[in-house]
Amino acid sequence: MTRTAGYSLTPPLPGEVQVEVTGACNLRCRMCLVRYAPAVGRAEGALSYEDFRALVDGLPALTRLTLQGLGEPLLAPHLLDMVRHAVGRGVEVGFNTNAVLLDRRWSRDLVRAGAGWVHVSLDGATAATYEDVRHGTTFAPRPGQFDRVVANLRGLLAERAAAGVARPVVKLVFVAMRRNVAELPDLVALAADLGVDELWVQNLSHSFSDTDPAGRYAAIREYAAGESVELEPRASHESFAAARAVAAERGLAIRLPRVEEHAPVDPGRPSCTWPWDSAYVTHRGEVQPCCMVMGSDRATLGRLGGRTFAEVWHGEAYQAFRAGLLDHRPAEVCRGCALYRGTF
Ligand code: SF4
Repeated sequence: MTRTAGYSLTPPLPGEVQVEVTGACNLRCRMCLVRYAPAVGRAEGALSYEDFRALVDGLPALTRLTLQGLGEPLLAPHLLDMVRHAVGRGVEVGFNTNAVLLDRRWSRDLVRAGAGWVHVSLDGATAATYEDVRHGTTFAPRPGQFDRVVANLRGLLAERAAAGVARPVVKLVFVAMRRNVAELPDLVALAADLGVDELWVQNLSHSFSDTDPAGRYAAIREYAAGESVELEPRASHESFAAARAVAAERGLAIRLPRVEEHAPVDPGRPSCTWPWDSAYVTHRGEVQPCCMVMGSDRATLGRLGGRTFAEVWHGEAYQAFRAGLLDHRPAEVCRGCALYRGTF
C-alpha cells in the first residue's frame, strides 16, 4: 500500500544495512548501553559467517554495509572475511571502532581487503578526558589508552599511504557531552595534525525517554539526561564555533550537530527515513529499524532464522512502524531519538 509517493509501507529491499558483527566489547564507555548491560563474551557475541552471508546475499540492491553495532568490530572473528565478501560484491563496507586493537597488522589487512571507511571514536583531545569517557572493562580509565589509539590511527594512515590508496576513508567520531565539549577545538587541531579525512561530531544518540526511569535503562537514561550539550547551549555553541574556525584554518572537513531541537514537520515526508533506506540487524538476528535504538526490547520488528530479511522488512510490524513515522505519530522510541529531534 502506498501512502505517499516514494514512501510505501512495503518499500523495496534496502541498499544499505548495518550489521552487528559482534556483541562483545573491550571497553565500557559511559554513553554506551554495553556498559549498563550484562557482559557478552566473544564467542557468544559473534555473528556467524553463514548468518552474515544469508543476510547480505539476500539483499541484491546492497551498496553500503556497516559492520558494527553494540560491540567492537575488531573482536568479530570473521570481520576480514566479511569485508572481503562485501568488497567482492562491489559493496562499500566499513565500520566504527574504538581502535584500541587496531594495530599495524589489522590496518594493513583492512587496507588490502579494500575497506571503504574506518571511523575511529575519539571523545577528547587529552588522555584525561578521553580515558574518563572510554573506560576499560573494569569500569575505570585505562592509562595509556589515548596514546595507544592515537598511535594506532597514525599506523592506519601510514599503511594507507604506503599502499598508495585513498581508502579506507578515516574519520574521527566525537560524541559531544558536557564533560568533553570544551576540548573539541583542540581535537580539531589534533585531527588535522594526524591527517585524518574528517572529524564527525555528534550528540548523544538517544535520551531513553521512552523507558521506565526505574527500569533496566535507568542508569543510561540518567547519564544521557545529565550529559546532553543541550543543557549548556552557550558553552556548546562557543565550542562548536571555535572548532569550526580551527577546522577552516587547518583545512579539515568537520561535521557539527545542532545543539537545540530542530525537527520541522513536512506532512509529505516521514521525519526519519531509516525504515525505508536501511536496517540494523543484531548479532542475534533481531531486525531493528535503525542503529539509534540501543536495546532490542525497545524496537525489534522481526527476527531472522525462521524468516528471511525480506519477510521481516515487509512484515506487519515494519509496516506499522513506518506508518507511525509517516503520520507523525511515531513509536515512543523515536520521540527521544536525536535524529528524530534534529539534534544528531
Ligand atoms: S526516528 Fe530515530 S529511533 Fe526512530 S527509526 Fe528513525 S533513527 Fe530510529
